[in-house]
Amino acid sequence: MVGRDPGAEQKFKEISNAYEVLSDDEKRSLYDKYGEAGLKGAGMGMGDFSNPFDLFESLFEGMGGMGGMGMGGSSSRNRAVDGQDKYYSLVLNFKEAVFGVEKEIEITRLESCGTCNGSGAKPGTTASKCTTCGGQGQVISSARTPLGVFQQVMTCSSCGGMGEISTPCNTCSGDGRVRKTKRISLKVPAGVDSGSRLRVRSEGNAGRRGGSPGDLFVVIQVILDPVLKRDDTNILYTCKVSYMDAILGMTIKVPTVDGMVDLKIPAGTQPNTTLVMAKRGVPVLNKSNMRGDQLVCVQVEIPKQLSSEERKLIEELSDLSKGKTASSRR
Ligand SMILES: [Zn+2]
Ligand SMILES: [Zn+2]
Repeated sequence: MVGRDPGAEQKFKEISNAYEVLSDDEKRSLYDKYGEAGLKGAGMGMGDFSNPFDLFESLFEGMGGMGGMGMGGSSSRNRAVDGQDKYYSLVLNFKEAVFGVEKEIEITRLESCGTCNGSGAKPGTTASKCTTCGGQGQVISSARTPLGVFQQVMTCSSCGGMGEISTPCNTCSGDGRVRKTKRISLKVPAGVDSGSRLRVRSEGNAGRRGGSPGDLFVVIQVILDPVLKRDDTNILYTCKVSYMDAILGMTIKVPTVDGMVDLKIPAGTQPNTTLVMAKRGVPVLNKSNMRGDQLVCVQVEIPKQLSSEERKLIEELSDLSKGKTASSRR
């Protein structure tokens, strides 16, 4: 925040000064007793600050938008407050996340009150000056901290920092906003995954006193598939083939996000070989013409029990591979 403002460096110096004044007991007591003049007289000038409201104004602005929390200086009276972002958790099934989907969601959020046009004041009434703060919108209070006693500028609780008291609108109780439900159509792109966030601009809570609305963030949660495992844009799958199929080779049917697809197991496939089914994976987010692969790990099953006939054949095979002839055993 500091970097964006051309006067930020100067402001930062002023803030450092302000902090120095506030954290140093001696200087602070001088300031408490004699104000700005007391510090200047002691050779500790503070620039052009003429009242504590200005001091706090710069301090909080420099610290990044704390004015929005109602702690700014006197010029922040009636300041617009931006609406907060809204979060919505959207659960998708596995294929919806892979290929994208259109969804209609219903959110409840704060919208500008139609009765008072967002002002919070009952229509037809006029506001009067707040007697607690004399129209400043703020009161000064002291707070004890490990660094000493701070004088703090607090938002006036009587008028909520407005400096004036108005008859609250009956519809929104003076907030200027009312809770409403809205249906929003969402186009979820292909390739999202758990934790993906979709931002829908300006569909969060309305601001106050002319502040801009927040955004809506739709946070995606994907239900796992019992068979297909997702690894970013790749799909992982494990298949089992018999040792004979691994030796001789064959074609099997494999579940993919596109449905059942033939996969050729080459003759002589070794256990735990990974076969690549190119472009059967997940579309790349925002590049839906690009897709990952499905990676198939081949597990070779060795039988634990054999019939006597099978055993005989395998023994013959074994003898054959040892260079013996089957007839020599007989
Ligand atoms: Zn209202
Ligand atoms: Zn007040």
